[in-house]
Amino acid sequence: MTKYIVIGAGWYGICAVQAIESISKDSVVTVLQVGSKDYIDINIANPRLAVEPDMVDLVYQPLTKAWVRAKLINIKKIELVASGQVVFIDSEEKKQVLEADGIIVATGAVNSSPLMKDIQGKSKDERKAEFTAFRDAITNSKAGVLVIGGGATGVELVAEVATDFNNVKCTLVNKPQLLLNGSSKRSAMHNVVMKQLNTLGVKVITDDYIEDVKEDYMGEPKKFTTKKGVEIDADIVVVCAGGHPNVPFPAGDALDEKTKGLSVNEAMLCEKLGTDPTKPVWAVGDCSMFGGRGVFADSQIKALSASITHFEKMGTVVAGPMKYKHKPSDSQASLVSVGRQGGAITIPFPNKMLGKALKSKDMGVSYIYQKYFKVKV
Ligand SMILES: Cc1cc2nc3c(=O)[nH]c(=O)nc-3n(C[C@H](O)[C@H](O)[C@H](O)COP(=O)(O)OP(=O)(O)OC[C@H]3O[C@@H](n4cnc5c(N)ncnc54)[C@H](O)[C@@H]3O)c2cc1C
Repeated sequence: MTKYIVIGAGWYGICAVQAIESISKDSVVTVLQVGSKDYIDINIANPRLAVEPDMVDLVYQPLTKAWVRAKLINIKKIELVASGQVVFIDSEEKKQVLEADGIIVATGAVNSSPLMKDIQGKSKDERKAEFTAFRDAITNSKAGVLVIGGGATGVELVAEVATDFNNVKCTLVNKPQLLLNGSSKRSAMHNVVMKQLNTLGVKVITDDYIEDVKEDYMGEPKKFTTKKGVEIDADIVVVCAGGHPNVPFPAGDALDEKTKGLSVNEAMLCEKLGTDPTKPVWAVGDCSMFGGRGVFADSQIKALSASITHFEKMGTVVAGPMKYKHKPSDSQASLVSVGRQGGAITIPFPNKMLGKALKSKDMGVSYIYQKYFKVKV
């Protein structure tokens, strides 16, 4: 019987649990999840939830639907991760030490907007209340909505707002000339999306930025001025300016210098944290130096699974398989929604119709839940 700890019950953490459960039928898996989160949250639908909070009940399915035997423990904080043990503060503020044969870290990324990405593990009701407050604020908006950052999240959010509230002024400011940073066929995708945003009445300002606005805002109308001097009035601001890996415990030289994610090899092993190969530590997803993007989880999970299979057989990860070949996200297919009626996808060529068909109805939630988690919604 092998004992595993998975830290973080997000997209990659859930996939890791499923992999362990299928490789080792008598394994004991404990999932440590911060806050009070006990539901599947893959972030993808968050721009839609911001205008349709009732969809939370469909999108946030119970974690128990995703795994068979794993035990979820909601915690306050991780204090230490090392070969064979995790030290954490439990929900009653008590320090606990949990021992395991293998540990998988899957703590995701911190994004600039807590509305678009919850990292604290809020409850389903708390998240629904946040989305409802946002929707109410748009309903009462006098000055308009400003979205800062025209990556996939910013584009999807501004399009959702403009679709559902065509009487509210929406502005999108993007520092690069082109929208959709990280998308393949970026220039063509930019054009397809730009056209749709214009039709929705969104004012898009590119190649310009607003300094010193780092946090979301809802309140009295304010004037924001871009570096090039464009003035924008808004009483709601959402900052969709990307994020960074979330490594919420001391990791020292286990961090990759460039990305600040956990350094891993092609078996997803983080050898600086798991110094004993008979008590390995793996890291997957957005907290790793490779980053995540949910729909590409398969390749990291395959490498993790191969390494765990070897570990189960040999009791060590020494001489195990190295399966992961990293491909940057702009070399892979991209798909975005542009409100309920629009979208864009890079295959077979950047176009609206297929993008709309695949994502805009339910943000792809039922397809993704079935494909990645075998959960029917
Ligand atoms: C708005 C939005 C839209 C997106 N759309 C897409 C899309 O269309 N396609 C796509 O492929 N990707 C999309 N992504 C990216 C995708 O959601 C991530 O790549 C994916 O969720 C990464 O999975 P992960 O498991 O690494 O991190 P997460 O899913 O973020 O999971 C991390 C988990 O760790 C928990 N955690 C954090 N700190 C601790 C701690 N100290 N202790 C224990 N648990 C902790 C978190 O609460 C969370 O449950 C989107 C992201 C956002 C924000």
